[in-house]
Amino acid sequence: MTNSRAPQSGAIPRAGRVLPTLNEDGSRRWIRPKPSHGPWWKRRQVVAYVLMALFFAAPHMRVFGKPVFLMDLPRRQFTLMGYTFLPTDTLLFMFTMGAGVIGIFLITALWGRAWCGWACPQTVYLEFLFRPIGRWFDGGYTSSRALDKKGAWFTPRRLGKYITFFLLALYVSHTMLAFFVGTDQLYGWMTRSPSEHPSAFLFVVLFTGIVWFNFTYFREQTCLIVCPYGRWQSALIDRQSVIVAYDVNRGEPRAHAGATRSTGAGDCIDCKACVQTCPTGIDIRNGLQMECVHCTQCIDACDDIMTRIGKPKGLIRYSSQDAIAGQPRKFLRLRTVLYPVVLAVLLGGLGFTMWSKPAADLTVLRGLDAPFTTEADGRIANQIRIKITNRRAEAMRYPVAFGGLVGASVESAPPIDAAQVTVVAPENPLTVGAGATRTTSVFVLLPATAFVRGERFITITVSDDRGYLETVRYRLLGPSSSTPNPNPAGTP
Ligand code: SF4
Ligand code: SF4
Repeated sequence: MTNSRAPQSGAIPRAGRVLPTLNEDGSRRWIRPKPSHGPWWKRRQVVAYVLMALFFAAPHMRVFGKPVFLMDLPRRQFTLMGYTFLPTDTLLFMFTMGAGVIGIFLITALWGRAWCGWACPQTVYLEFLFRPIGRWFDGGYTSSRALDKKGAWFTPRRLGKYITFFLLALYVSHTMLAFFVGTDQLYGWMTRSPSEHPSAFLFVVLFTGIVWFNFTYFREQTCLIVCPYGRWQSALIDRQSVIVAYDVNRGEPRAHAGATRSTGAGDCIDCKACVQTCPTGIDIRNGLQMECVHCTQCIDACDDIMTRIGKPKGLIRYSSQDAIAGQPRKFLRLRTVLYPVVLAVLLGGLGFTMWSKPAADLTVLRGLDAPFTTEADGRIANQIRIKITNRRAEAMRYPVAFGGLVGASVESAPPIDAAQVTVVAPENPLTVGAGATRTTSVFVLLPATAFVRGERFITITVSDDRGYLETVRYRLLGPSSSTPNPNPAGTP
């Protein structure tokens, strides 16, 4: 991969320019790409509009009664496609994030920066929403450049453009907020004073400002300066990865069209249509560059030129560095084998973990104070905290049952008379809201003779009326001077 400082042979010299968006004196070089409405543009346009529609519709969409995507920060929950990840779902979250990262690695190894050119929100919104609207206000591509040259930044039409961008940014930031708080909460806030929800209001103000600044002023510099993904390219792709590439063998030596063109000239007529259309301001003929977001605009521009001069299309095309150099295609490479294997393991782990997850999470904890207390009547009291997380989409009632308290315990401790056993459970069944977590305290009182060497094992069973059933073994504590073990071998 080359960068803008290192043009290959035949490149347009750009001595002194560090970035395509900077002039040599350090001032901003405004990129006003000339749109090339060829077949690749039309395909990307369809994808972009579908993605935009999904973004704006997603907060309103439900799967299994839950949002498609909700990052519920106050409740520390993350819902994706109707599945709610709870703070305890570290493993699930790890599998999901790992699969996402490896998936991007695999896509990049196979198709280069397909993500950047086709699906990244920066490209999608800039090229298919903000730039077209901006061009309309400026009076088209040529007029846009003329206004830049004159330094006419605040004409009435341009002010109209900035206001329209602001309204779009406002809508985008409200949609973004809905991904964190849900649409019901958002609508509630929108009808009330900002003083009642200052944090959310501040988020909207800041995010609107960032979106407006990004799409009005910063634009392609986000890809060139801020985004780390472009810088990973040299590590993530190889010479077999499919990229947008200029066929140097076919194009060079470039020569202008016309009577003076020599017979040995390549197909490139040096018209610079590919440069004028590039949204990051680079020349694809300089080879693979970090600034190239694989947007395919240069393919459309050059194909149009080739058609006009009667040459075959594809001087710039989707290809690989090896294919351009005449090397055979090798689909099986270390990274195209390793990434799918790791991805399959992560997705398998994710699927298994989700499949084996019960409909509720049960945690049984000891009381906060002394391990046990001795009551006035001599009985031993254990406090048990039972914490239940309801994973279902509606509130559920969870009855809690105890085993091993009367009769022989689960560990062959001596039987106890039921009259000597007391269970104090202020809330049984315990009602837990959808996706919520609640903890209840239970007190178990037993005679001191119920304990063997200071302990007695019981079972705690929690269930719901839709098939969830979970039993855990729990160790009650008592005085160690209690009954010796009548069954040292531990046989039934
Ligand atoms: S558009 Fe094609 S012919 Fe024109 S300069 Fe670019 S590569 Fe050469
Ligand atoms: S070089 Fe071509 S594919 Fe790369 S960003 Fe520029 S126009 Fe898009």
